[in-house]
Amino acid sequence: MTNCPKCRIEKMREEVVAEIEIERCPFCKGMYLASGELQKLVLQELGTGDTFAFSASIDAMDDVAAYCPRCEVDMVTMAGPAEVHVDRCPQCGATFLDRSELAIMQLHEPQ
Ligand SMILES: [Zn+2]
Ligand SMILES: [Zn+2]
Repeated sequence: MTNCPKCRIEKMREEVVAEIEIERCPFCKGMYLASGELQKLVLQELGTGDTFAFSASIDAMDDVAAYCPRCEVDMVTMAGPAEVHVDRCPQCGATFLDRSELAIMQLHEPQ
């Protein structure tokens, strides 16, 4: 299991969301998604459970640089769907989402 790209201390845990395997940090609740998984996840109906609820306090994490634990390179901040800033690994294409970013993207996904 790899360390969280942002906290760098906490080990992420595997979690299955909408039949997609992701890694999730138990501390900041950020999600580490392999290449291609982000798009699948945004299109899934996840409901409004606590898991993906908005959290203003965590938004501070947006300013923390992420680091791909697999490739050991800095991730690049880029504009994802709904102009959410996601961190993307230039080597393996993995994406790191802060806690509420998936929910924001889903709200903006055209029906
Ligand atoms: Zn974390
Ligand atoms: Zn990578």
